[in-house]
Amino acid sequence: MKIFIKYSIIALFFLTTNVHSADEKIGRNFIDLEDIDDGYNIHVMYVIPADGVDKEYDLNSKISMLLYQIDKWFNSKTKDRLYTDGQNLKFDRKENGKIDITFLRLEKVDNEISKEGIQAVNVLQPAISSHGFNDPKKVYFIIYGGSNRDVCASSQLPSYATEGIIANTAALYYPGKRSGSCIDNNGGFKPEFNETAKAALHEILHVLGAVPQCAEDHLVFESEGTINDGIGGHIAIPGDIMYSVQSNVTYDKAKHLDYKSTNYYNHKNPNCLDIAKSKYVTPTVIDSQLPSFGER
Ligand SMILES: [Zn+2]
Repeated sequence: MKIFIKYSIIALFFLTTNVHSADEKIGRNFIDLEDIDDGYNIHVMYVIPADGVDKEYDLNSKISMLLYQIDKWFNSKTKDRLYTDGQNLKFDRKENGKIDITFLRLEKVDNEISKEGIQAVNVLQPAISSHGFNDPKKVYFIIYGGSNRDVCASSQLPSYATEGIIANTAALYYPGKRSGSCIDNNGGFKPEFNETAKAALHEILHVLGAVPQCAEDHLVFESEGTINDGIGGHIAIPGDIMYSVQSNVTYDKAKHLDYKSTNYYNHKNPNCLDIAKSKYVTPTVIDSQLPSFGER
């Protein structure tokens, strides 16, 4: 018991030294709070670079509103499919039902992350992991309060990760492109399912394993000298939230979630990942699947 207490004090000391005092604000959490579910959840983080400006998106309901819009749309598109009332994304929540959002300021400055473009998520994942945000049960959705040279959002693809590499993180870059065009063009945080919300959901579905390579309309971008070369995880069906065409990703017409149930939601292929059976949606089926299900 004594040893245990000693360790707790050390842990607390480290935690405190990592927190800039200016970032300490009422209602803000620097840790992942104790889970109220089985631990398989989408944990949300507001992450800013060392030189980033704290816009308090974790405190002023901007992130909560974004996730509410995403989840509302997801639920409406899943109604009368596997469940009559549809399904919801299983975000990590507090006992009062609000999203458990963790704030983290990184050691890296914005330029180190921004210059990585679509790969910035592969810098953010080890960065949050080094702060202990690497629960093997969880996937992480980061609202990164900084810029990105090329894209407004990107995700790691679990089914494309080489063995031993952790692919558990999706990110929305906000304001993203340095001109602020991710907000200007995509709508920003508003009470509507706009392009910012669509981009965020698109990336969250990626980190949950969509679109699996075994899906009949799965699309891999060919080598055309763009940043998307060789990237998979999409379908070639216009109007789908997971539709994408090389070097021209727009979500303005996204209105479907695999509506034919043939690719990634509530389909009939038992050996292929199905978001309806994901551990990260509720209600959760008994034989629920992890994001890499059926790929190896
Ligand atoms: Zn994509």
